[in-house]
Parts: sequence; structure tokens; C-alpha cells
Amino acid sequence: MMEPAIIPNQPNLDPMIPVPAIVRRIVWETDDTFTLFLEPPLFDGMPFSFEPGQFNMLYAFGTGEAAISISSDPGKPGSLAHTIHRVGTVTSSFSKLKRGEMIGLRGPFGRSWPMKQAEGMDVCIVAGGIGLAPLRPVIYSILKHRKKFARLTLLYGARTPLDLLYRVELEQWNKHDDFEVLITVDRSDSSWKGHIGVVTNLLSYIKLDARSTIAMVCGPEIM
Ligand SMILES: Cc1cc2nc3c(=O)[nH]c(=O)nc-3n(C[C@H](O)[C@H](O)[C@H](O)COP(=O)(O)OP(=O)(O)OC[C@H]3O[C@@H](n4cnc5c(N)ncnc54)[C@H](O)[C@@H]3O)c2cc1C
Repeated sequence: MMEPAIIPNQPNLDPMIPVPAIVRRIVWETDDTFTLFLEPPLFDGMPFSFEPGQFNMLYAFGTGEAAISISSDPGKPGSLAHTIHRVGTVTSSFSKLKRGEMIGLRGPFGRSWPMKQAEGMDVCIVAGGIGLAPLRPVIYSILKHRKKFARLTLLYGARTPLDLLYRVELEQWNKHDDFEVLITVDRSDSSWKGHIGVVTNLLSYIKLDARSTIAMVCGPEIM
């Protein structure tokens, strides 16, 4: 059984019992991936809180349950988002949810990315595909406390330009002077002017000092 993480100020309720969570909206990021925004549930009257990298078990009534990382900003507990790749029964069921409908939620589970250890260091985030979802809370947290961290780099790869998640935010992040964002796609037509190739190829475009850099990496196994 997965152990629930101990979150300060959050009562450690029975991790086997889902709490109701109301759907606020669904935003499609790509043809097969969407972000599900939920009304953050209360636990004994306490607001839901989580750390970057944690996940919830989301339960579609009558269908089943899936582990889904939290992709929203931990500093904004009023909004709880999960970015979901529609691959099978449960994730398809989530994709059909409408505003006001209810799902079950257990969590948060899992350990945080090493945010404390990263303070004072260069941070290199490497994400492949849906792997950007559990890393987005890290980006929000670092941008909020930018002075606590040294260089910040994001290397992000998707199959095609149409598979890139969070396109508006990627553009915004790219405008930050102190945030280096490099994006690549596996394949594209000539309309794509950026990098082509797997995400790890991007490592050759940046300078890393292994002694002062912490890497946070999430993507498919082959990555
Ligand atoms: C800790 C953790 C965090 C996760 N976070 C996320 C997240 O943030 N977003 C997210 O979308 N998923 C995430 N996943 C994966 C997610 O839990 C599964 O994709 C989900 O359980 C699939 O359920 P399903 O019923 O829709 O698919 P199933 O009906 O179980 O699978 C149907 C078919 O899809 C295939 N399949 C299953 N998963 C995948 C996949 N990921 N890619 C390609 N084919 C697949 C299976 O091989 C099967 O053929 C996470 C998993 C873990 C363990």
C-alpha cells in the first residue's frame, strides 16, 4: 500500500477512502491530453495542500481509479489541476467529465521533488511528454522564490509541435531573462523552426556544472 505523505497542517486521514472532488473545468492541451481542474477538497475543514511532484489517486465512479500527478501551483491551493493523457478506460472517463460533476480523490501521495536541496543550486528540469505535468509545480515554486535558486533551465521534448503541453506558459517562461527554456520535437514539418530530436539531445546546448546542478527528470523510460 502507498504511504500517504505527511503534509504540515493536513490531517492524515485514511488514505483508502476517497473524498469527493467537484470538477471545475477541463482544458484540452493537445488532441489526447487535457487538464482537469478540481475544486480543492477540504479535509476536516482544512484546505488540500501538496508538494511539487506528489500525485493523487483519482476515482471515476463506476469505472476505476488512476494515479495522476498534480500539475498546478502548490502556492495557489484554491486551484487543483491534473494533466491527463487519455490512454484507456479510466482516463477516457475523466476526459468526458462536465463542470459540477464529482470524482473521488485520495492523496496526496509520493515524495516531493528535492526542493530544499535545490536551494542555492542550478536547477535543470528535463521533461518528456506528459512528464512535464509533475514538474510544472516545481517551475511555479522556483519562479515564485526565484532568488533562492541559481540558474534555471527547462529542457522539454514532445513527439510533435502539436503534442507540446502548456504552450502559452512555455512562451511566457521563455520570456524570463533568468529562465532558459529549450524545446524539441521528435518530428515535424518545415513550419517548425525549433530543435528536432529527442529531449536528451538538448543537453549539448547548455553548460552544466555537475557540482552545482540538481537535475529533476521525468519522462518515458527510454528517456
Ligand atoms: C505516480 C504516477 C503518476 C502518474 N501521473 C500521471 C499524470 O500526471 N498524467 C497521466 O496522464 N498519467 C499519469 N500516470 C499514468 C496513469 O496512472 C495511467 O496512464 C492510467 O492509470 C491509465 O489508466 P486507464 O484506465 O486510462 O488505461 P488502461 O485501461 O489501464 O490502459 C489501456 C491501454 O493503454 C495503455 N496505456 C496505459 N497507460 C499508458 C500510457 N501512460 N501511455 C501509453 N499507453 C498506456 C495500456 O498498455 C493499455 O493497452 C501516472 C502514474 C503513476 C504511477
